[in-house]
Amino acid sequence: MRKFSGDRLVIASHNAGKLREIAALLDPYGITVSSAADHGLAEPAETEDTFAGNARIKAHAAARGTGLPALSDDSGITVEALNGAPGVYTADWAETPEGRDFPMAMTRVWTLLEEKNAPAPRRAAFNCTLCLAWPDGHDELFEGRVNGQVVWPMRGAQGFGFDPIFLPDGETETFGEMDPIRKHEMSHRADAFAKFVKGCFD
Ligand code: IMP
Repeated sequence: MRKFSGDRLVIASHNAGKLREIAALLDPYGITVSSAADHGLAEPAETEDTFAGNARIKAHAAARGTGLPALSDDSGITVEALNGAPGVYTADWAETPEGRDFPMAMTRVWTLLEEKNAPAPRRAAFNCTLCLAWPDGHDELFEGRVNGQVVWPMRGAQGFGFDPIFLPDGETETFGEMDPIRKHEMSHRADAFAKFVKGCFD
């Protein structure tokens, strides 16, 4: 596995919630981070049907566009009773002509589960694939996951995206209610990040 030896890293994401979490996770490593938007890069189309495929698209676009190593995150929630949906399409489920509407997307998930009469607990997982790409085209992938269930009603205003309806196993608070420090200890992103650090820094 190739090690990360530079002191600058581009975060290949335009998602404010992910940028905040990845910057916090990188904080102890003394690396200067910037975002794809800081470099004036547009968001590439996510045309693959896997987290890894879309993570690769985003990281390589940013590494090519900046000449710097770039770290991307492709993530989403997979709901068992919905055959893994919304999965790689998690962000798409929130799209409206006026921007992303996550309460609407979470309501859609819950409504579909109710229509199916899905038995409780309604098992789900958050998945995260991180891709570190270098300008010469090399990349490394790291996958993380946290298991839990979808709960209703939405709970909490911390975090972002689908956090208010995800209750991780063994916890009493949803990701939306949880202190961000606790979320960073146990999330799908933290799981993938630990593998990234082990592979590329240690
Ligand atoms: P993408 O990786 O840009 O395709 O978007 C992933 C989507 O999954 C985000 O827009 C969020 O809706 C959702 N998501 C990913 N990670 C999290 C998380 O930690 N909490 C809540 N929602 C998340």
